[in-house]
Amino acid sequence: MAASSDEIFDALRKVKFPGFSRDIVSFGVVRQVEIIDGQTVVTLAPPAGTPDLVDKITPEIETVVAGTPGAAPLRIELVESKPNPAQAPQPAASGHDHQHAHAPKPSGPQPIEGVKQIIAVASGKGGVGKSTIAVNLAMALREHGSVGLMDTDIYGPSAPILLAAEEEKAQVTQEKRIVPVRAHGIAMVSMALFVERERPIIWRGPMLTKLVNEFIRNTEWGELDYLVLDLPPGTGDVQLTLSQTLRIDGGVIVTTPQDVALADVRRGVRMFKQMHVPILGVVENMSGMVCRNCGAESDIFGRGGGARIAQELDLPFLGEIPLNPAIREQSDAGEPVVIARPEDPVSERFHQITAQITTQLTAGGKPSTGD
Ligand code: ADP
Repeated sequence: MAASSDEIFDALRKVKFPGFSRDIVSFGVVRQVEIIDGQTVVTLAPPAGTPDLVDKITPEIETVVAGTPGAAPLRIELVESKPNPAQAPQPAASGHDHQHAHAPKPSGPQPIEGVKQIIAVASGKGGVGKSTIAVNLAMALREHGSVGLMDTDIYGPSAPILLAAEEEKAQVTQEKRIVPVRAHGIAMVSMALFVERERPIIWRGPMLTKLVNEFIRNTEWGELDYLVLDLPPGTGDVQLTLSQTLRIDGGVIVTTPQDVALADVRRGVRMFKQMHVPILGVVENMSGMVCRNCGAESDIFGRGGGARIAQELDLPFLGEIPLNPAIREQSDAGEPVVIARPEDPVSERFHQITAQITTQLTAGGKPSTGD
């Protein structure tokens, strides 16, 4: 029989807070245990000032979960520690435990200094054209102000290819701050600038969290009107980290026309809600097909699914981008279609989508939350 989340939560009482006789549950470090998509998701809220706590207790948590009969594989997620009497048991303030009983000052998601608007582009799964859309939106946004692009897709960073900046290496200032690369008039930072090509990158939860945090906080963006975040596909550690550290002003969900994409969009919506990110709307990519010769659009791959999904979930529908060979060719050449072929109708579509986004953001109102 599968182990319940309560059972695992209790079992984690065997793990001691390093240096103390008390356990991590009673200290409130274990925020919650959930069983999600066949995984045991243990959410930890390490108190401030304990930078190596997670690394120290992770092996023990792994042992406890592996040793609980019927427990699903472990995934550790980190959240910021804040006083939450309803969920986190607060240890009694006594003896030397007292210092640890003090929860750190709560600090929610923060903006990035100098950056006015942060837009996150997400998709429920890979291969739907999320990065292509993110890059072209970034290009179209240049008409509205200064733009940065942060490629947070650790596992498949593609921004340097899409912007022909593959040969660039990230520069770091004396203060160890990351200097973005300039490409086609925007500032760009990507994990691909830091790692050796062809080397498989495997980041485990806590490592990934540190990496993304560093990435976000340590980049010299300067003054930006818009920063576009190309999120990794799906929902996971990176999104969670971003939501805890960064105040994201709006989220765009990219999907394909097929009805099967509905579940993916729902996941994207749920993720943005968990991240408390207002949803700007849905973009349907690869909608219909543009004939290379005559330019006519046909619907052999279907279209309209994105609009239906948006309607069903009560979200704004931002527009359709057709399956167009020019988009892929320009992406491969490192020249996004919006700048390489400004006269192409597809570039106009990107501008229309961008205009809706900027209107929503500058209206300062509350975009739909998908409720
Ligand atoms: P994701 O970021 O969702 O994994 P990508 O942006 O990398 O997806 O796109 C996957 C592939 O599909 C790339 O080869 C890209 O050039 C191509 N592609 C994306 N959108 C379109 C489109 N509208 N028309 C033609 N090819 C596209």
